[in-house]
Amino acid sequence: MPESFQIAIDGPVAVGKSTIARILAQRLGFLYVDTGAMYRATGLLALREGVDVEDGEAVATLLRTHNITLATPQGQQNDGRKITVYLDDEDVSWEIRTEKVSTASSKVSQHAVVRQQLVPLQQEIASKQNVVMEGRDITFRVLPDAQLKIFLTASEEKRAGWRHQEVMARGEDISLEQIKKDLKERDDRDMNRDVDPLHVTDDAWMFDRSDFTLDEAIDEIETRARKLWHKNET
Ligand code: C5P
Repeated sequence: MPESFQIAIDGPVAVGKSTIARILAQRLGFLYVDTGAMYRATGLLALREGVDVEDGEAVATLLRTHNITLATPQGQQNDGRKITVYLDDEDVSWEIRTEKVSTASSKVSQHAVVRQQLVPLQQEIASKQNVVMEGRDITFRVLPDAQLKIFLTASEEKRAGWRHQEVMARGEDISLEQIKKDLKERDDRDMNRDVDPLHVTDDAWMFDRSDFTLDEAIDEIETRARKLWHKNET
């Protein structure tokens, strides 16, 4: 049993994992960790440096000479972001959210050599403090002993609709059809990659939030988390 209390959330693209995990962490006073942000920063790095995202060794070599750090937004950084992401000393929190970087992150995350560098960083963060950590391999690779494991899902239709709204609100003009296609491609890559493909573990709570609002979904998870946390403390 880990010393910290760990809530691990996995699930497909655009199911609301980040928003739900961040608000849940705030309510519980836990640290929110968006592991996807680390793969996004890696994707951005590869794009900037002109390194082929399909070349795992080249991406891993590049990653070794840079630092990716996550931080809780402070003061003026509270501009709607869920987490602050630094690539070395540069704040790239918004730049990693474009569709171009989404695709690059999905590709760099296929490589075992890249994952082998990021997973230990994530485990180290979660060993020191109570966390809500979300991604694609948290329930079975990063935090296999987490006290609460959730596989969060929703229908493709709903997920594409939510992502479309989000993207349009940021001023990117992408059709719903294109979003659907991108989501499907990214999910397929995550579920079919050679290393740690996204899957539902036997001990995870499978939560389909298609018919839940964000608030309702967070309330459901918070209730379950508090019960387990309380049990863990006594
Ligand atoms: O969660 P988000 O969509 O921001 O993650 C970006 C990409 O990083 C995903 O499409 C996925 O391929 C990858 N990822 C991963 N393992 C994680 C988190 C994200 O492979 N734990």
